[in-house]
Amino acid sequence: MTLTTRSVIIDVDGVTKTFTTPDGRALPVLDGIGFQLAEGEIVALLGKSGSGKSTLLRCIAGLIAPSTGTVAYRGTPLTGSNPGVGMVFQSFALLPWLTVQQNVELGLQARGVGEAERRDRALKAIDLIGLDGFEGAYPKELSGGMRQRVGFARALVVEPDALLMDEPFSALDVLTAENLRSELVGLWEEHEAPVKSILIVTHNIEEAVLLADRILVLSSNPGRIMAELTIELPRPRDRRTPRFEALVD
Ligand code: ADP
Ligand code: MG
Repeated sequence: MTLTTRSVIIDVDGVTKTFTTPDGRALPVLDGIGFQLAEGEIVALLGKSGSGKSTLLRCIAGLIAPSTGTVAYRGTPLTGSNPGVGMVFQSFALLPWLTVQQNVELGLQARGVGEAERRDRALKAIDLIGLDGFEGAYPKELSGGMRQRVGFARALVVEPDALLMDEPFSALDVLTAENLRSELVGLWEEHEAPVKSILIVTHNIEEAVLLADRILVLSSNPGRIMAELTIELPRPRDRRTPRFEALVD
């Protein structure tokens, strides 16, 4: 299937973001960003530190508004937070005074889901991400990898169309990062995948090539898409274990 025949989940059109520095200067961070995220694809956003990657993700999640341009979710321009995305942060962003289950339930609470359903869905997400038995634990009792699992459960519990991940593995040691990435790929490849598309921010080229169907490369000062690369490796089943037979026929 080509991009044009798949339904577009996120449409970023002419997004510009200019911050004001403490001394009152204009700081242009994003300059005319446009791309689409379609159903069934994984897109990686690659760029140096400070190029505006996190700012762009926040615009897509509707946590901040672009200075100009629009972000649309399934054809409807955002006016506030994006109802179709779940977000995973580099620093996990868990609330230390809440248990694993309470942290996971937060997003549902914000969406007005009742207590019983909240509990059911949180436990399901916790189980899905391999944290069964840790519902009552506090973040400080968990390793970094487990904390990020809570971050994933909290993003997935809202059953988002798109999973937005901001350098989700960069705070973890190499082995933990590889394990978690590999599990994420497993979830993605399952028939009943919990999300329809993924946008991952990274500065790790290898990770981008391994995971993504497409890579957008951001320039710095200000951030513009300076290259778009399509990964032509056999898809979709080689993200974890390459299937070399696919290369010979
Ligand atoms: P990246 O995630 O690619 O490292 P960021 O999006 O975090 O980049 O930041 C891009 C630039 O925008 C940086 O120079 C940063 O200091 C600036 N910036 C980010 N958020 C704000 C803000 N709320 N106010 C002012 N400047 C900001
Ligand atoms: Mg960032």
